[in-house]
This record gives sequence, structure tokens and C-alpha cells, in this order.
Amino acid sequence: MAEPPSDEASGKAGPSRLVFPTRASTQTWMILTFVLFVGIAVIAVGLYVAFVVGSEIDSTVRQTLYQQASRVADRVEGVEDEDRRAIVRDVAGLADFQITVITPDGQAFAYDGFRPVQSPQIAGVPELAGLSDGQARYEKRTEGGQPMLYAAIHRPASGLVVRVGQIRPPLVTLLGRLRVALIVAMIMALCLTLLGSWIAAKRVTEPLEEIRRSAREISEGNMDEDIVVDSRASEFQDLADSLNRMTATYRSQIHELQRLAAVQNEFIGNVSHEVRNPIFSVGGYLEALASGSLTDQQRKFYAEKGLTNLVRLNNLFNDLIEIARLEYREDLIKAIPFDLQELVDEVAEQLISKAGEKGLELIFSNPKLYVRADRARIRQVLVNLIDNAIAYSDEGTVRCRFRRHLEKVRVEVVDTGRGIPEDHLENIFERFYRVDPDRSRKSGGTGLGLSIVKQILHAHGEPVHVESTAGRSTRFWFELPLVSNEEGVAAA
Ligand code: ADP
Repeated sequence: MAEPPSDEASGKAGPSRLVFPTRASTQTWMILTFVLFVGIAVIAVGLYVAFVVGSEIDSTVRQTLYQQASRVADRVEGVEDEDRRAIVRDVAGLADFQITVITPDGQAFAYDGFRPVQSPQIAGVPELAGLSDGQARYEKRTEGGQPMLYAAIHRPASGLVVRVGQIRPPLVTLLGRLRVALIVAMIMALCLTLLGSWIAAKRVTEPLEEIRRSAREISEGNMDEDIVVDSRASEFQDLADSLNRMTATYRSQIHELQRLAAVQNEFIGNVSHEVRNPIFSVGGYLEALASGSLTDQQRKFYAEKGLTNLVRLNNLFNDLIEIARLEYREDLIKAIPFDLQELVDEVAEQLISKAGEKGLELIFSNPKLYVRADRARIRQVLVNLIDNAIAYSDEGTVRCRFRRHLEKVRVEVVDTGRGIPEDHLENIFERFYRVDPDRSRKSGGTGLGLSIVKQILHAHGEPVHVESTAGRSTRFWFELPLVSNEEGVAAA
């Protein structure tokens, strides 16, 4: 099918559309709006004065002239010619009119002020031509460069025609002046509107411009600077404050996310490092075992070494799983009343052989006390703290004791071990932080024990504290809420 010819092809121009600059700045829009409204108002006033007031003045002037003509006619009707002239002269002189009287026989005489007008012009004058039968006529024209107004009437009773003329009556002069003043006022009003709207628009748009500039910077990722608005309008200040608060929140959230990403990267790096070493060792020991030419003693040695590394890996994975659980499951803590001393005895039983191997004395006897907490998690806290106390002590005692403190019990784990140097104290709860990495690994430590302790107690809403004297002793403590013995026994 043939395509219909396009406008271009057919030589016709397409319909042209008028496009308005809708994307002009707020300042331009404000100025245009002000000027439009004030302009319309000024033009309306101007038109009103020019037409309505103008025509009213015109008709008042016309009425006045007709009245004057009637009054003169009243006085000159039925009067002798001499007296008539005298009356006309007096009236014209007093009121500054030009008065013309034409008798029925066509005689005309006129006075302009007290001066008689020589041979007054009456032939072909529009307001006089064919005036008869009580007619009246009004005429405006320019004579000798002056605007002249005439009102002429015919009196049927006497046949007299009286015409009153006036050069530029005061009202007309006033109207002219009024028109000039009005035009000047209109121009001034428009100029003032332009200036006022420019100042007002500037006051409004400057802070907006500042906010826009800052918003653009924020969208480009630069959130370091606050928006400062120099305006007396409270809305702009409020807007700037809200935006500043919003950026401050985003700023701190971004920093927190960056910090978490760094922590996570470091954590992943540490985990892979911790996992690689034992796997590499197990591989080596298995290879050695596979080599065949080993004595029973050597085989036993390699097998034991391999197992130790597997235990280390197992501990590490258990700790990592524990950390992940604590991190992502907030409902993990199930607090119930339980006998704390019974729990401590259980832990002592688990660790007594390890303490015995090192010749350490465990002192764990306390009065029966009931607390409200997650028993399994607090067991893990005690195991981690007491296991560390045994691992990092070479002689002396490891003690677990309770101290009642208001509505709580303070649980302390105290050892007489090597202690922790002061500058390490604030870091030991971080994941994989070790004061002495070799010793930690040798004792089967994963570097995660204390961070798990901190996380479990944090989930209970309790902090963990440490105090240590390097080379002498270390004391860890935390608190748990007490419950009465009756409640504890009832819950058991
Ligand atoms: P690890 O598995 O290495 O024991 P932890 O998180 O349990 O990891 O402990 C972190 C570090 O804190 C340990 O490596 C050790 O240096 C130090 N530490 C913990 N408990 C004690 C203690 N009772 N005495 C001395 N040092 C300790």
C-alpha cells in the first residue's frame, strides 16, 4: 500500500505550535505574575478613568452649557434689542463665555467676554445649521488650536437662537491633567511592581537556590556540609533544618554501614586464616600417616596431632555457629528461674580434669541462689570464662563466687594466672583478638570465647567487666537478676 504523502513531501508546513517557556525560574514566574496582576489592575483603573469618568465629565459640561444657553435665552426673550445686547455682554463678561444670539430675521450679534465679536460667523456652522422648532445642539471642535465647546438652542416662542461657547472648560482641563497624572502613576506603579516583585522574588528564591544547590551536592554523594540558609522566613529555616537532620542520619548510617562492612571483611579474613591453618596441618599429618614407613609411636604421634587440629576446627565452627545465631536470632534468650550454684557445679565437673592436669585448684562453693536468665547461654558464659581462667593460669586457684548486689547477683570468675596487660584490656572482647596468639592456639582457643560471652550477656541486657593485674590475676564479672528461693523452687 502506498504511504500517504508526508507534509514535508507534499510541500505543506506542519501545524506550528506555540511553546511557552514553562521551565522558567521561580523568580521569573513570580515577577511575571506580579506584573500581570498589577498591570491588569492599573489598566482597568486607567480605562475606567479614561472612558467612564471622561464621558461623565463630558455630559456634565454639555448640561452646563445647555443650562447657560437656556438662562441667557430666558433673559433676552421679550427684551428690546439694545437691552438684549447689554444683557448678553454682561453675562458673557461675567461667566467668560462666548454668547451669540440670532434673531428670527437672521441678525446675529455675539460677545466674547465684554468684547463684541465683529460679524459673528454663523453661516455653515454645524450647531446652527437649520436649527428650528425648539431644537438644541451640542458641538465640539478645535478653533485656532483651541478646543471649543458649543451648545445652541432654538426658542420657538420668540424664534431666537442662543448659542453659548466655551474654550476648554475647567473640568475638561482637569480631565486632561488627570489623564496625564494617571499615565504617569500607571508607569510608576508598574515600575514599582517590577522592582518590588524582583526584591520579593529574590528573597524567596535565594534560600531556595541555596537549598537546591545543597540537595544537588547531596545527590552527588557529598554529605559533609550542612545547608545554611540566610532567610528570615521560618519555613526555609525549618526546611533546611529538616534536610540537615536527614543528611546527618544518612551520614551516620553510611558510616555505620562502612564500619560494618570493614568489620565483616576483617572477620571473613580472620575466619579463613583460622580455618586454613588446621586444615593444612591435618593434611600434612594424614600425608605423613600414609607414608607407610612409620613406627607405631610416630603413627600415634601424627594421629594425635591431626585429631588435635580437628578438635580445633570443630571448636571454631561451633563458636562461629554460636556467633551467627546470637547475631541473627534476637529471640534466642529464653529467661527462666534456675539454681545458679547447681549450674556452676555442672561447669566445674566439666572442667575439673583440665584444671587438675595443670595443678590448679577450683574453688566454686557458694550458697544456693536462683536467678532469671537463659540457663544454656549462661552455662556457655561460665564455661568460656572458667576455661580461659584455667588456660591462662599456670598455678594457684580459679574461683567462681557470687556477691549479692541489690536485686542482682554479681558472678565473678577470678584466677591467679598471667593477667592481661592494661593496653589489651579494651580489645579482648573483639573477635579473634588474642594477647598471645601462640599460647591461645596451643590451648585450643579460637579467639572468639570472650566475644561470645559479651554477646550473650548483651542479649540479657547486662555488660561484662574485667579487671586484671599483669602477671598476677584476672577477674571477670557480670550480674544477673535474682529471684526468690520460693519462686526458684516453684519453677524448678
Ligand atoms: P581465646 O580463644 O584466645 O581464649 P578469648 O576471646 O576467649 O579467645 O580471649 C581473648 C584473649 O583474652 C585471649 O587470647 C587471652 O589473651 C586473653 N584472656 C582471656 N581470658 C584471660 C584470662 N583469664 N587470663 C589472661 N588472659 C586472658
